[in-house]
Amino acid sequence: MFRPILRRGLGSAFARRPAAVRSYASSSNPAFQWEDPLGFKHLLTEEELAISETAERYCQEKMAPRVLEAYRDEHYDQRILEEMGDLGLLGATIQGYGCAGVSSVAGGLITRAVERVDSGYRSAMSVQSSLVMGPIYEFGTEEQKEKFLPEMAKGRLLGAFGLTEPNHGSDPGSMESVAKPHPTKKGYYSLSGAKTWITNSPIADVLLVWAKLQETGKIRGFLVERKDCPPGTLETPAIKNKNGLRASITGMIQLDNCPVPEANMFPDVEGLKGPFSCLNSARYGISLGVMGALEDCIARARTYALERKQFKGNPLARYQLVQKKLADAATDVAYGTLASIQVGRLKDEGKATPEMISMVKRQNCDAALRNARALQEIFGGNAVSDEYHIGRHVANLFVTQTYEGQSDIHSLILGRAITGIQAFV
Ligand SMILES: Cc1cc2nc3c(=O)[nH]c(=O)nc-3n(C[C@H](O)[C@H](O)[C@H](O)COP(=O)(O)OP(=O)(O)OC[C@H]3O[C@@H](n4cnc5c(N)ncnc54)[C@H](O)[C@@H]3O)c2cc1C
Repeated sequence: MFRPILRRGLGSAFARRPAAVRSYASSSNPAFQWEDPLGFKHLLTEEELAISETAERYCQEKMAPRVLEAYRDEHYDQRILEEMGDLGLLGATIQGYGCAGVSSVAGGLITRAVERVDSGYRSAMSVQSSLVMGPIYEFGTEEQKEKFLPEMAKGRLLGAFGLTEPNHGSDPGSMESVAKPHPTKKGYYSLSGAKTWITNSPIADVLLVWAKLQETGKIRGFLVERKDCPPGTLETPAIKNKNGLRASITGMIQLDNCPVPEANMFPDVEGLKGPFSCLNSARYGISLGVMGALEDCIARARTYALERKQFKGNPLARYQLVQKKLADAATDVAYGTLASIQVGRLKDEGKATPEMISMVKRQNCDAALRNARALQEIFGGNAVSDEYHIGRHVANLFVTQTYEGQSDIHSLILGRAITGIQAFV
């Protein structure tokens, strides 16, 4: 039995306060830890360490045994979100409304633990926590917060985030989805349009859809409740036969004059600021999440290299080219994790910029994909068997490099900040 690791409703009781870093006994002869090469754990508070350790235990004991079948069958077990909810892992950085109110770093350590098992499991959780609960908390009315957040924190109400459209991915500002006053229902908008590649959409109860208000042409956020949609106005078909992120469920959102109460629109936020500000939190989580996936690749490749013998009975780990792959990957994990912790600390102090988050999202996703692909080679032909898990991580990490701003798009964000010149168009 796992007890809730996060006390609900404690607000700032966790690590938003100045960090109480766990002190370690000084040693005249410290040993190098290949699992944490630069000692990032020395930067964590007691609470963050406890959260990280318990999340790791839940993920390894409860999630990991399910992942192979889930990936093979392209099946997402919804009970996972309820289990995470029971442990207080959903919307964990939110203050109040049944959420734990932990630091951004602690939130990132949860994504790291989940993604060590599978990026698809982490995606389902990130959408719930950062892309639906996050904006409701940031932009919603008090009524919207009271109505949705406590049930979402328990994992009993499931969310999806609809920004990407079939014709507009990297350029969401050109979206075609539209909201106009409903022709017959007073106090309602009518939403029409199509969203694609939407995590959780086929099973979501509440779908946060971004659409342009016809009267102003400005993007607004609408909370579409599936249970209230008349037949034929909302369809969410699954996109099947993916070759990555198969342990999560992905689909479309098709809206045909779907009536949505005005009370379900975010009242004030307009334009891309709405979707982009919640993407910032999700991207931060990804930056630490992908480090978890790469850590799993390193651990598996190291074990394999120590056990597999080729040429005169030597383990693969004896060869320089194999050692270099492990050294490259361990170095990138160590640097990437430290960078994310620094950005998380600045985020909680209100000093992080979107460009900093673009930098760690891009760098860590690129590094995780590049190194996972290199480590895959250590497994030789066995890499092709899903039982070795490395191929699953590689396929997943392609997606993490692509969604929430493809890496080249983040280069353009950074390039604009460095030169002052916009290179998107
Ligand atoms: C499994 C999965 C789950 C997803 N979940 C969600 C979700 O929950 N919600 C959601 O809204 N979206 C989701 N997405 C969509 C994802 O965010 C988009 O795929 C991503 O934004 C890229 O858009 P696109 O696929 O249309 O690619 P495109 O925009 O067509 O880009 C294709 C390529 O062209 C490059 N490119 C585009 N414009 C430029 C430019 N100006 N200069 C240089 N290069 C450029 C890109 O970098 C990319 O390499 C998901 C995607 C996947 C695969």
